[in-house]
Amino acid sequence: MKLEGKVAIITGSSRGIGACIARRYGAEGARVAVVAHSNLDKAEAVVKEINDAGGEAKAFQADVAQVSECDRLAGEVIAAFGTVDILVNNAGIFTAVPIEDTTEEIWDTQIDLNLKGSFFMARAVVPTMKAKGSGKIINITSIAGVGGFPNSGAYCSSKGGQVNMVNALCLELAKDGINVNSLAPGNIKTDMNAPYRAEAGYDERQASLTPTGVGHMDPNELTGAAVFLASSDSDQVHGANLLVDGGWAAW
Ligand code: NAP
Repeated sequence: MKLEGKVAIITGSSRGIGACIARRYGAEGARVAVVAHSNLDKAEAVVKEINDAGGEAKAFQADVAQVSECDRLAGEVIAAFGTVDILVNNAGIFTAVPIEDTTEEIWDTQIDLNLKGSFFMARAVVPTMKAKGSGKIINITSIAGVGGFPNSGAYCSSKGGQVNMVNALCLELAKDGINVNSLAPGNIKTDMNAPYRAEAGYDERQASLTPTGVGHMDPNELTGAAVFLASSDSDQVHGANLLVDGGWAAW
């Protein structure tokens, strides 16, 4: 097991990519804080799956778009598990809308959760990680953080910001034994894009944009990379943006 004895916070792990990472971290021996925003029942179901499989997990609730909530969440996890070794900034929201229709609220919602939330969750765990002289901070970014997408100005801004945040934080924290990296998914089958996938021809169009011909990957296909970035195998990896995108960004 790659994460034996480690404590991991995974934001947005009530469903989708975060839930898959939570289950895999649990199977790799980590004690897992499964974090929901609205769907605490779903977080509790993920916790039950992990615990039933012989792991250890606990459900938490927080709105990580708010700085005070980031601090509260980190405090509650540290109180429950005694420490924190791994932070996965996974909670995110995507609203596709042309620039003319992008209201301040649509902009703020995506920037506040995807970008600000990632930074302030990192700030909330850094004192504990610095005191231990080790830690792993992983931003779940996107192919939309390295390339542009139409009707996605706010989302791409948030994801691009998360990518470069990793460069800045790794320069600051590497000397403390803290690895800061990103994992950038391509198109993944989750609730986030379910309405688009329901459109005729959408998956086929996405498939035509990857050299693998895969339109949407299964979220479990990301978990190996998530374990790598959380484990000692990545101790000398700093500031990377590890693309798991079926080759999307290689064109
Ligand atoms: P998802 O299925 O829509 O799940 C979103 C998660 O974020 C849920 O657990 C949700 O909690 C949580 N969340 C929403 N608002 C929150 C808030 N204010 N505070 C705390 N948690 C909040 O999303 P996903 O597709 O798994 O995406 C996960 C990450 O991967 C996101 O950062 C996304 O940008 C990135 N990503 C996704 C794709 C893709 O194709 N799906 C591609 C590239 C990158 P509740 O269940 O409680 O609402």
